[in-house]
Amino acid sequence: MNDNTSILKIKGVGEKAQKLYAKLNISTVGELLAHYPRDYEIFAPPVSIARAVPGEICAIHVSVVGIPNQKKIRSLTILNVNVRDESGAMQLTFFNMAFLKNTLKPGGFYVFRGLVQTRGTAKIMEQPKIYKLDDYRSQCGQLMPKYSLTKGLTNQAVQKAMRQALTFYEFEEEYYPPQILEKYGLCSVREALANVHFPIDYETLKEARKRLVFDEFFGFLLMLRKNKELADELVNSYPMLETADTVRFLEQLPFPLTNAQRKVWGELREDLAGTHCMNRLIQGDVGSGKTIVAVLALLMCAANGCQGALMAPTEVLAMQHFESISEYTERYHLIFKPVLLVGSMSAVQKKAAYEKIASGEANLIIGTHALIQDKVEYHKLALVVTDEQHRFGVRQRERLAAKGEHDSGENMAGTHPHVLVMSATPIPRTLAIILYGDLHISVIDELPAERLPIKNCVVNTSYRPKAYEFIAKEVAAGRQAYVVCPQVEEGELEDVENVVEYAAKLRAALPGTVQIAYLHGKMHSSDKNRIMGEFASHNIDVLVSTTVIEVGINVPNATVMMVENAERFGLAQLHQLRGRVGRGEHQSYCIFMSTNEKKETMERLDILNKSNDGFQIAAQDLKLRGPGELLGIRQSGEFSFKIGDVYSDAAVLQEACAAVDELLQEDPGLNAHQMITTHFAARGNSVDFRSI
Ligand code: ADP
Ligand code: MG
Repeated sequence: MNDNTSILKIKGVGEKAQKLYAKLNISTVGELLAHYPRDYEIFAPPVSIARAVPGEICAIHVSVVGIPNQKKIRSLTILNVNVRDESGAMQLTFFNMAFLKNTLKPGGFYVFRGLVQTRGTAKIMEQPKIYKLDDYRSQCGQLMPKYSLTKGLTNQAVQKAMRQALTFYEFEEEYYPPQILEKYGLCSVREALANVHFPIDYETLKEARKRLVFDEFFGFLLMLRKNKELADELVNSYPMLETADTVRFLEQLPFPLTNAQRKVWGELREDLAGTHCMNRLIQGDVGSGKTIVAVLALLMCAANGCQGALMAPTEVLAMQHFESISEYTERYHLIFKPVLLVGSMSAVQKKAAYEKIASGEANLIIGTHALIQDKVEYHKLALVVTDEQHRFGVRQRERLAAKGEHDSGENMAGTHPHVLVMSATPIPRTLAIILYGDLHISVIDELPAERLPIKNCVVNTSYRPKAYEFIAKEVAAGRQAYVVCPQVEEGELEDVENVVEYAAKLRAALPGTVQIAYLHGKMHSSDKNRIMGEFASHNIDVLVSTTVIEVGINVPNATVMMVENAERFGLAQLHQLRGRVGRGEHQSYCIFMSTNEKKETMERLDILNKSNDGFQIAAQDLKLRGPGELLGIRQSGEFSFKIGDVYSDAAVLQEACAAVDELLQEDPGLNAHQMITTHFAARGNSVDFRSI
């Protein structure tokens, strides 16, 4: 087996399983092996009931007292089981598992493993897993991989397939020269893959991860380096002149630009008028006002008779940009002729959009990655703006840049659009320079002046009723609120508040007049767009959502952000979430609710409590987690790395950067290191991106 072998070749994976794997974007053995565990479970030895700590997952070895008690509430069967050991008693609750009534014999001994909770003064567990003592002992101490799953596919099935794939996979030869392996302490890919999936202990897991993270960063940085080389040579195909349009627009705006915005706008103007093609990042914290600066650049572009494109990572955000820019256009008589292009539009709507784009009738195209589909033909596309860039794969950004009308000549003759990317990811400057190595960086380091700082609190779940009261009060005063729950992922996260159920619970807890809706990533885009639209126009008061609302949404009337299970999110992500409020004139509030009262968790969350400055938060987070932390919470999806985390793996990122530097210095064309080129090209880290 190799990377391209179909997973059907794995024993036990039939057509049915193949369809399930397809949902996880896995069709080959290579893709399966790259489906790294999302977490690991450690089976610690059982503890006595007295020592089981609420908020933690524990195993207890206990005997069943009496016959389990069964209740039925509508379609739900609830089974209560009393258990005890010498130290005390506990009640276990099982849902829709009536068969256990016959399995769990009075007086029988079992190991139960689950999240310890409290009900009044009593300790309880809901839905614990059940083991015989011997079975449990044999798993004790091992790190068991936990994979992201889809309904119908169990963790055990994936583990089994993974073991097979590892056994029959033919590993390629080592592509790094020995000095790199030695200098950076890298194990072989074979060891890395085996140990990332089935680590014997933390130490081997750490080594395995290091190699995989290093590889991922290395490939990425190699590509950036090539891109920069190519981009720096590109002459400005669309030199632009500043016209009265932007000046007039600025005069009419109800607010003056901040100094930071003015400075960045100056840099953009210079780039657009300069001798070379623009390749720039605007880095600015949430709410710093990046959009308006991009709109100015797009306006300059339209005024010069060219097309501009604005790409957003979600449809919701794309529609919001489209609506607000259309409104500006009308109100200030701007020369924009905007058109929207998103995946959920009908074929007829899309066709109409394609035509307007190809003919040049539209001079501003706003959309999602639908913008980079092959069907879209542009007409004098001179500027490509990517919002919330860290949410896109790097490849996607490049594909749009490659949409310029360049001739397919070897010497890259032809025209190239200017590239502007925007990101609110608050990363320390040293990391930004590495991660955006192919771009020039502009920083908006100032928030519009009249904003009131957001008031924060970090609380435990006993505060929930008070939080609801507070939300009801804000809604009564005409404001709106977000409640964020962790992702809906089927087949796991049993203990996590689920958006749909949560919305139902909230409906019961808040006054009947409060309009509540929910939003999650698995919903159809048109439904998401509709709900978001209704929230923006205040037909909805409280929006219960997963992090899909995290990116860029701007509803200034929303003043409360409540985050459930805040301990499950990275700090940078929580800061982004918080950025959804405090965007208007009203005092805003952020409530981080944690179900876990461990000291470290509270300490981490407290960083947010103390600061509203994204750069500061990221730096603190990095310090607190330190390079030693291995199984920390991933900053979900940032920069689309599969395993690397730019925050907790910052040290490896710096090493990979040094390694790329050394290698390219010694062998700029990588002529003596063909295996590196071949390996990373096969993984989509194409080093020749303009040829896509
Ligand atoms: P982000 O940088 O997070 O993308 P936005 O561009 O969405 O932020 O701006 C947030 C809000 O601030 C918007 O409602 C915008 O109109 C407003 N805004 C932008 N610049 C200024 C400014 N200089 N003064 C006052 N409000 C501003
Ligand atoms: Mg934004």
